[in-house]
Amino acid sequence: MNLILMGLPGAGKGTQAEKINETYHIPHISTGDMFRLAIKEGTELGKKAKEFMDQGELVPDDVTIGIVKERLSKDDCKNGFLLDGFPRTIAQAEALQSLLDELGTSIDYCLRVDVPEENLVERLTGRRICPTCGTTYHVNYNPPQQEGICDHDGSKLIQREDDQAETVKNRLEVNMKQAKPLLDFYDEKGYLVTINGDQEIDQVFKDIQSAIEK
Ligand code: AMP
Repeated sequence: MNLILMGLPGAGKGTQAEKINETYHIPHISTGDMFRLAIKEGTELGKKAKEFMDQGELVPDDVTIGIVKERLSKDDCKNGFLLDGFPRTIAQAEALQSLLDELGTSIDYCLRVDVPEENLVERLTGRRICPTCGTTYHVNYNPPQQEGICDHDGSKLIQREDDQAETVKNRLEVNMKQAKPLLDFYDEKGYLVTINGDQEIDQVFKDIQSAIEK
C-alpha cells in the first residue's frame, strides 16, 4: 500500500503515521525527520536544509526530491510506504509520479488529516519532543508524567526550533499556500480522502483504517 499523508503542521500526521507503520508494517518516510537527522549529524544535506527550516521555509525541491528518490528506491519500500510531509509542491508531486511510474507502481491513497486552523497554533506551540527517542508530547493534551521529562528514557524534552511561536505562523502560512494545489492535484486523480483530524487520536486512526481498507 502506497500512501501519502497530508495535513498542516500540527494536524497529527506524525502520530497517525506511527500507528499506520505499526499496523501495516510499511516504512514511514518523513522528509522533516530526514532533514532533522541530517542536521543532527551535521551532514552537507543538514547544512543546506537548516537555513530554510529555521526560517519556516520549504527546503528547495531539487534537494528534497533527491532524498525521497533515494529512499523510495530501497528494498523496504517494495511492499509499500507512507510519505509524511512530501510532496509539498506540484514539482515534488510530479517528480514522485515519474519515479513511481519508473518503479512500476502508483499511489493508492492521499490521506488528508483536516484540523481547523485556529487549533493548530496551540497544538504546535505546546508540542515537546524527546531528543533521544523522538516521542512527541503536548504540554496540555498529552503531557509526560513528569513535566519536561520523557516517560521512556528520562531525557529532557525540547521544543523544536520551528515550533516556536514566531516561526509557527510563517510555517502555517507557507504550508496553507502550498497545500491547496496539491490537494487539487490528488483530488483530480481520485486519490484524495479527507479524514477529520479534530477527534481523539484513536478515532482518527479508525477513520483512516476504514478509508484504506475499503
Ligand atoms: P515537518 O516536520 O514535515 O513539519 O517539516 C519541517 C520542515 O522541514 C519544513 O518546515 C520544511 O522546512 C522542511 N521540509 C520537510 N518536508 C519538506 C518538503 N517535502 N519540501 C520542502 N521542505 C520540507
